[in-house]
Amino acid sequence: MKPKKRILLFATKLGYQTRSFQAAADKLGVEIAYVTDRCGRLDDPWNDHALAVHFELPEAAVGTVLEAQQGLPVDGVLVVGDRATIAAAYVARGLGLAGNHPASVEACRNKLRMREVLRDAGVPVPWFRSVKLDPLPEPSLQGIPYPCVLKPLSLSASQGVVRANNRQEFIAGAARLKRLLDSPEIRVSREANLDQMLVEGYLEGKEVAVEALLTNGELRVLAIFDKPDPLEGPYFEESIYVTPSRLPEAQQRSLQASLLSAVRALGLTQGPVHGEFRINDDGVWPIEIAARPIGGLCAGALRFVVPGEPEKIGLEELLLRHVLEMTGGDAPRESAASGVMMIPVPESGILEKVDGQEEARATTDVTGLEITARIHDYIAAWPEGSSYLGFLFVRAKEPAEVENALREAHSKLRFVLTPRLPVEHPLSHATPNR
Ligand code: ADP
Repeated sequence: MKPKKRILLFATKLGYQTRSFQAAADKLGVEIAYVTDRCGRLDDPWNDHALAVHFELPEAAVGTVLEAQQGLPVDGVLVVGDRATIAAAYVARGLGLAGNHPASVEACRNKLRMREVLRDAGVPVPWFRSVKLDPLPEPSLQGIPYPCVLKPLSLSASQGVVRANNRQEFIAGAARLKRLLDSPEIRVSREANLDQMLVEGYLEGKEVAVEALLTNGELRVLAIFDKPDPLEGPYFEESIYVTPSRLPEAQQRSLQASLLSAVRALGLTQGPVHGEFRINDDGVWPIEIAARPIGGLCAGALRFVVPGEPEKIGLEELLLRHVLEMTGGDAPRESAASGVMMIPVPESGILEKVDGQEEARATTDVTGLEITARIHDYIAAWPEGSSYLGFLFVRAKEPAEVENALREAHSKLRFVLTPRLPVEHPLSHATPNR
């Protein structure tokens, strides 16, 4: 019997996305060894044999992983989420497997570095500047023009990204961003560069996301997603993604050319790429390029057709087949239109209940609804937030039908959120004992 192929899957969280990888691996007869950074102090706290490392200390993480893999076969490395990409790139390199150069992945993980690399390669970028957050900056002294966008250097999911149209909004946005970056929740992640922000010109225009796959430097676009809701700020929570794109052919070609030049500038050569772009009268502008697949549950919107196989496969299975050079790694997307809504968080609060789920699921063309926020948990709205309430999926013949069904299904959902009471000092109610 041939030995099972074995891959390393780097993931910050073991959740929906890793479960999809596991299901695909079981189907293909592939073994997955997990590498996570959830808790380094206990041996196997979740009883799934995941190797615990700190992704923000890639050198130490790489040492731990390489040591643990000694004598074990590793046929490929895959990553879920942004935070693990650098450690995964070093490990792939250390094992002699095909992967991106770690410096390329590092440039993708630092929004300032990415802007510098793209600018130096002649790829269009807005004006940009890194600005220290302590002391809080005075924009007039820095000659900041408006509108502009303030953002952290290394967070993702639009967390902390704020538009400022004038000096007051800039000062308020910078203070808010500083509070977020100083919060224990962010500090504990050990992200780099939490003492500064990137300030850049606000780009008008339509926004799209592109999912692509690199094989030895050759780029294949898997899907272009339109984002039909305006993303004009002040915060940039995502909502609807619909593919195929309804942009004119010529714009789609320019988009692909822009992705290719950005990928070349960054030196990315292998594996999944997720890009966000703005398109306006001046052309196509990469907002960000990430060396990982689309996040959250959004991959559920993509299915691929392997010639000769009756069942369509998901993105996770496509990526497994691709990294293992199995047949089907080059499968095209199905012809149906498809979409996903990242269900927005209307206000911060404790999620008490979600009504209307049956009605939403019964909406024509809806193929799935997953409420990922947990009842009784506190959920933060943007810009502090970074998790959606859940995900709605639709498949239909035309993109417009997909968009309408997503909106209709969403209108049937009712989220009851109650504001979190301010935490009071335990002694504040005590009667003074005089
Ligand atoms: P993240 O990695 O956290 O998602 P991005 O830099 O991709 O951060 O920004 C998140 C979102 O904010 C983008 O998808 C876009 O909608 C908006 N945005 C970011 N930068 C700009 C910009 N320069 N002009 C207009 N919108 C922007």
